[in-house]
Amino acid sequence: MLYPAIFRDLVELEQKIKTISAKNVIGVCPGPALADKYREYLQRIDCDSTDVVTVFKFAQNLLSCDPNFDSNQFCNKSRLLLSLATLWKAHLSELSLADFQLAHKIFTDLRGHFLVPDFLETVLADFRPDVKRCVLYFWHFLQSAKILDEHGVYGELAHQLRTPAHPAYEYLPSQTYLFFGFRHFTGVQVDFLKSLAIKHDVHIFIPEPAYLSARATDWITWLFPDRKTVPPVERDISSSAVQCQIIRPAYNRHSELLIKQLAGGKATNIILAKNELSSGDLCSIYHDNYFKLESQFFSGILEALTKSVLARIESSRTGFLSVEAMHQYIDDECRQKLAEKDFRNQRAIKVILLVRANLQVWQELSAKNTKVDGDIWKMICEASQLDLPRNYLIPVAFSRHSSSITSISGLELDHSPDGSILVVSEQYGEIISDGSAFSDSMLVNIAPLSPVKSADLEKNFLKFWLDIFLSGEKNRLLYEEGIEERSFFWKMILGSLKQKGYGSENRLCKKVPVDVLARYITQTYRQKKLTPSRMQNYCDCPRKFYFQEIHECRLDKTTQLQLESFELGEIEHLVIKDFFEKNLELNDDSVTRLVDLHLREYLEKRILKIKKISLPEIQKEIFEYSMNGIKILNDLIALYHFTTVRFEIPFSEVVSAVEYKGRIDCILENEDGYAILDFKRGAGSIPTLKAFDKFEKLQVWFYLAHADISKKILCFGLICLSEPDETLLRSVMDVGTLECGDLTLKGIPREDYERKLSEYRSYEEGLQQDLYADDIFKASPLKAQTCDFCDLSALCSKGQI
Ligand code: SF4
Repeated sequence: MLYPAIFRDLVELEQKIKTISAKNVIGVCPGPALADKYREYLQRIDCDSTDVVTVFKFAQNLLSCDPNFDSNQFCNKSRLLLSLATLWKAHLSELSLADFQLAHKIFTDLRGHFLVPDFLETVLADFRPDVKRCVLYFWHFLQSAKILDEHGVYGELAHQLRTPAHPAYEYLPSQTYLFFGFRHFTGVQVDFLKSLAIKHDVHIFIPEPAYLSARATDWITWLFPDRKTVPPVERDISSSAVQCQIIRPAYNRHSELLIKQLAGGKATNIILAKNELSSGDLCSIYHDNYFKLESQFFSGILEALTKSVLARIESSRTGFLSVEAMHQYIDDECRQKLAEKDFRNQRAIKVILLVRANLQVWQELSAKNTKVDGDIWKMICEASQLDLPRNYLIPVAFSRHSSSITSISGLELDHSPDGSILVVSEQYGEIISDGSAFSDSMLVNIAPLSPVKSADLEKNFLKFWLDIFLSGEKNRLLYEEGIEERSFFWKMILGSLKQKGYGSENRLCKKVPVDVLARYITQTYRQKKLTPSRMQNYCDCPRKFYFQEIHECRLDKTTQLQLESFELGEIEHLVIKDFFEKNLELNDDSVTRLVDLHLREYLEKRILKIKKISLPEIQKEIFEYSMNGIKILNDLIALYHFTTVRFEIPFSEVVSAVEYKGRIDCILENEDGYAILDFKRGAGSIPTLKAFDKFEKLQVWFYLAHADISKKILCFGLICLSEPDETLLRSVMDVGTLECGDLTLKGIPREDYERKLSEYRSYEEGLQQDLYADDIFKASPLKAQTCDFCDLSALCSKGQI
């Protein structure tokens, strides 16, 4: 039988477990982190006869009790990716890498919902025919080759458990199973649980608020369709007895406060309110290591290896390397690391060996797999990424006390005799995902077949464990000032605490007397090359300039979920450039084709893994922004009768041994003169006219001062791609304004322009002298917003020095 084991608090959880538990009870958890926690918890409540395994291990055990099962049938995620990549290259090579990745993503996501291909055509109706064909092809391949992916394993087990003569049906016949910590079950897992419950007792532990508020499309309803439902109750966190200490550091100052809390303290668990841990998180807590840990524990090393081999492949005459040459290269890398006899190399060696193993897997998949091109290399590295160890817990020692740092998942059953600290900061991003990765129209077709992920349900699980955390007397909650305004979830949770008067008295003073970063400043700027972005950086904040340009500190990101704004901007520039260079007619089709082409090429080149199937939205945005740019350029061309359009024009000028160099986004030209233009994506990057004339955004002035422009300047400024109305253009003319399409160009008399330019030269000279003489690099941002986008903001003294 299948039973919901509903609990309202830890007391009820313990009672339920004790009531159900007897000999031969097995606990099942979604992953190793929770399995460890529940194992420890069961010991604490004297139920240590209950073993806890992960759901995958549990499924594997069941499969292996069938003597006829061929373990070669099972294909893990990385091997599956390499198998499908082999098929793609052999039979669907007209698809680009980005399209293959999209098809692979849709394929693997859909397999969690159903295993029979009957519904595929309907569900995939919105996708391009070639992508759709690829997904169907993969699906049929798995079926005909009798390969079991992770979803297929549950499907196979569901079948076995429904077949009375089957060994799995008889496996541990009197067992009771307790499923702990699950926040989602896929459609095939739901089917598996129902099959398991035919002969066994299966208890699914669910916090009451999540159970009661589940909707028809949630897995809870799929498992327990007859459950009593009540209208979803918005659980107010303030209704719980808040016992923990609440501390509210000023925006971006949580690290300092955390260090203070830890100093001399006892062993304490630190829970960061974010979904995945990275080495950067460790850095943000350890002052002394902050700038030296530059990569993820493993993925940074893998990325570096991916790029170095890719460069080798691309520089080869043929565009590929033989498998033997690849093995040789990888072996040499490994030998070199071993020869260094540095224990810190162990992570690099682990990564190299993983990549080597996946290269071997790919080679053995087909006799034709003898040459590795760039696409295949990226897939081998992506498969290795899937095999990398996960960081769900970082063990650390504070003042000789051992402790750990976990992500937000560590909130469930958190237990530390001396209390734990939960840190909530904007830096950690949103912790509630958007629910299902599919579009609404796909979900309409998927929902009748399988449960779909829901952000609301996830929220209810999280709120439940938060509530328990807040009731812990020894626990401490550090929540950064202003987080409520930046996150809807935290607004809901913390708003009520504020009403209860928590926070302000514990607020850390913004004024920080110690310049914690000063000790790292050991050099002056010696490079004799100046670009507009370097100058702008120094102008924005000398301290930021120091760490980016002199210290060259870079913190890698975890997974890139979306294209970043500057990346979208690069694609838009390419679209606009290509449009004019190909002299195309302006219509939706011509621009759409260019967007499609450049987005695809960009994704392929950068090895980007966009987690959500969000390409249509990205395409739409790039299309709109590019269209705006093209229209403004067309209006300017018509107004001034420009005859030439050029993009990305490099320039360089050497003055007193300093090289001034850069690239101008766009120059329009006629026989009388030029327009010098720079593209910006957001209105936030367009200064006011006053700020522009005060050189707060100096890029265009830098172009005007250093590019070798022999003719007159007719017009200059910044084009805003998102909001054309925000475009700032100046027309060099005697008086008044010029109408240009929907825009107005503010006139500047030629003498005033010449005077302004000479003012800029003096300003730049002063800035340059300051830069070369600077040995303090003050943390003095030009504007408060500069700090909002700065990696150093958690530790920096921000304008106080
Ligand atoms: S946080 Fe602000 S003041 Fe500090 S380095 Fe960054 S931009 Fe400068």
